Parts: sequence; structure tokens; C-alpha cells
Amino acid sequence: MNEHPGNTPMFQISHLVKEFNSVPAVNDVTTNIDRGEVVFIVGPSGSGKSTFLRCLNLLEEPTSGEIRFKGKLVTSPGTDVNQFRQHVGMVFQHFNLFPHLTILENITIAPVKTGRSSRKEAANQAEALLQRIGLYGKRHSYPLQLSGGQKQRIAIVRALVMNPDVILFDEPTSALDPEMVGEVLSLMKELAQVGLTMVVVTHEIGFAREVASRVLFMDKGKIVEEGPPDRVIDRPANPRLQEFFSKVL
Ligand code: ADP
Ligand code: MG
Repeated sequence: MNEHPGNTPMFQISHLVKEFNSVPAVNDVTTNIDRGEVVFIVGPSGSGKSTFLRCLNLLEEPTSGEIRFKGKLVTSPGTDVNQFRQHVGMVFQHFNLFPHLTILENITIAPVKTGRSSRKEAANQAEALLQRIGLYGKRHSYPLQLSGGQKQRIAIVRALVMNPDVILFDEPTSALDPEMVGEVLSLMKELAQVGLTMVVVTHEIGFAREVASRVLFMDKGKIVEEGPPDRVIDRPANPRLQEFFSKVL
């Protein structure tokens, strides 16, 4: 029993390893993600950022190590993965909206299917969120009829409507035309400011510097440096980071 469940970290990750064909993509990662934290993960392509994120919601089954979510071990055979994922939203680079469903249906399908809300409640909440982000007029449109920036904001709303404890973002702006990046980042910034726990993989280093409570730098499957953005981004100790940031900044 945990005496202070409200203070337990959102995630406790201990010696996490994920191998593909015996090659580690994530190699002995240990860190916590606290409630309300906005953790950015940066690092070169192929360093294991996506694999780490996908392990956090069990889209990948870790090879070894442990993940606890609000104190509870989720890397155990007894875990109800579908139930667990209702608490952990995910936003992907390529939106992953259902093309044959309207915007409103895309947003309401999960809460209705999982029995979290009635159809009416889900629609009301979805419409309120759509109003909030200025896309209420698109509720009966299909994803194809939206811009990339609009689709990604819908994908974020689709995650929010489940009232998750945390949302994981995997390069949410990498597939967008430059003029659409800002609208997605400003929605993410609003969520960070209201205290949503977020884990964000991105190459938007300026955004990370502005919004992150902590930055993790990954290289070859390991966290090689972590700390507040002004230290990790502006004054990295590790030469690998200095080289990386000199290229992306
Ligand atoms: P990043 O997101 O930092 O670019 P990834 O987590 O996607 O890195 O990949 C880390 C390493 O794991 C890479 O070498 C990649 O080729 C490998 N990898 C990722 N997913 C798979 C997979 N499903 N099968 C085999 N290898 C994979
Ligand atoms: Mg990736």
C-alpha cells in the first residue's frame, strides 16, 4: 500500500530495456515522470525516443525492466492494457485519425466504446473542446477536409476527451507545414500551463526551452543527460549534446 498515492510519480521507470532482434533500442533507462511535469525528450534520429514513448503506454512490450504507473506495476502479465491506455493518451506524428469518421465521431468513439461516457456526454464534451480550439464548424467534416494543423489539434482533443492522466506526444509537429506548427504548439502550451502531465518527443528545441520542466537527451537508447532546459539545452556538459544542439538551434 502506498500511503500518499497523490504524491506517487506518474511513471517510475526502472532499468527499462527494449530490444528488436536482440539489438537494444532502449537500453537501461531509469527515470521518473512526476505529476504535472512536462518532460521533453530530444536526441538524434534512431536514439530510441519513439520506442521509449511507446513502452510507456505498452504499445511496445519491454524486454526487461519495470514501469510503474501511479505506483502500480504495469509491466506485469496481469495488466489490463486497454484499461491502462485509457489513462495514457498518445498523439502521433501522422495524426492517426480515422479517415471514414467525421471529426466529431473521431473524438467521441473512444469514450463511448470504452463506456467512459454516454454518446450524448461525449458529444457535449467534444463540442465544447472544438469550440475552445475554434474548430466547432468542422465537427461534421472528415479528416481529409482539414489541414495538417487542424488534424493534429483534433488528435489532441481526441486524447483529451478521455480525461487522461498523461498525454504522450511523438513528434506532433514534424509532419506539418511550417505555417501550421504554431497552432499546435500553442495548444500544447496551454495544456502544459493547466498542469497536464506531458511527455513530448520533438525537434522543436525552442519550444522545449520555453515549456519543458525537464529535458531528457537520449543517445543510443540511453538517457545521457537530463535536467532543466536552460542547463541541458543551453549549457550541455556532454559533447554529443553540444554537437546536436549546434545543428538544430
Ligand atoms: P527515434 O524515435 O529516436 O528516432 P526509434 O525509437 O524509432 O528512434 O528507434 C530506435 C532504434 O530501434 C532504431 O535503430 C530503429 O531502427 C529500431 N526500431 C524501432 N522500432 C523497431 C521495430 N519495430 N523493429 C525493429 N527495429 C526497430
Ligand atoms: Mg521517433
